[in-house]
Amino acid sequence: MPELPEVETVKAGIAPVMTGQLIAKAEVNRPDLRWPFPENMADRLTGRRVLGLRRRSKYILVDLDSAETLLIHLGMSGRILVSGAAQGAFYHPHPAPAKHDHVVLHMDGGARITFNDARRFGAMDLMPTAAQDDHWLIRDLGPEPLGNAFDETYLVARLKGRNTPIKSALLDQRIVAGLGNIYVCEVLFRAGIDPRRKAGQIAARRVASLVPLIRDVLHEAIAAGGSSLRDYRQSDGELGYFQHGFQVYDREGAPCVTPDCARPISRIVQSGRSSFFCAQCQR
Ligand SMILES: [Zn+2]
Repeated sequence: MPELPEVETVKAGIAPVMTGQLIAKAEVNRPDLRWPFPENMADRLTGRRVLGLRRRSKYILVDLDSAETLLIHLGMSGRILVSGAAQGAFYHPHPAPAKHDHVVLHMDGGARITFNDARRFGAMDLMPTAAQDDHWLIRDLGPEPLGNAFDETYLVARLKGRNTPIKSALLDQRIVAGLGNIYVCEVLFRAGIDPRRKAGQIAARRVASLVPLIRDVLHEAIAAGGSSLRDYRQSDGELGYFQHGFQVYDREGAPCVTPDCARPISRIVQSGRSSFFCAQCQR
């Protein structure tokens, strides 16, 4: 499932071919993804100029000159392909139409943005740009982890007295927006905090230490995504999926990377999600 850095990478990949361009034609091949598309979505997109792209949590927001904003959510299996435009040193010709190409944006410069989603957990919606903070997917989100509103004082105050495991608290989108399972595992490893620890029982100093670690982990992953764009080998022009060097995520049984530890990484299930951690290094 794409997390914040992957979404940021997809946004960075489509921004150069969309920004300032007209959507010559929006092809909408079905009435819905996870939820129904907004009424007349194809008509409301066709002929609009793209003013710019932003990201909020795991949503890509495309601002249009109609004072509307297109929200794109990749869900579990959503993929965005760019064709007919240069991507770094690479150029992907238009692919043959494929099954699950649910929305295709034909840009007036000749580029195509294809949204393909086999499982249809993704979503698209349109909203007035001025009212984006009231959108039901956005209004309850906490601050962006890379934004100024997310700092040590905020996190310590939000976690104070909380009886939930720290892992669940960091995944709670109302506390901080856009963090997902992979990066929370990595952050807790770097912080040396056991994912099962009750959030409210961790010393304020240790909670505060999570803030720069969250920023570091996300910045490193975004940088890796940026290099994946510059070094764009995927033959079909798909954006956003790139190799990371994870320290604990998906490493059950493999030796801990801490020098002189080497204890096998543990996996437990918390709230239906796998938590990977070192029982020696994380307390
Ligand atoms: Zn260890």
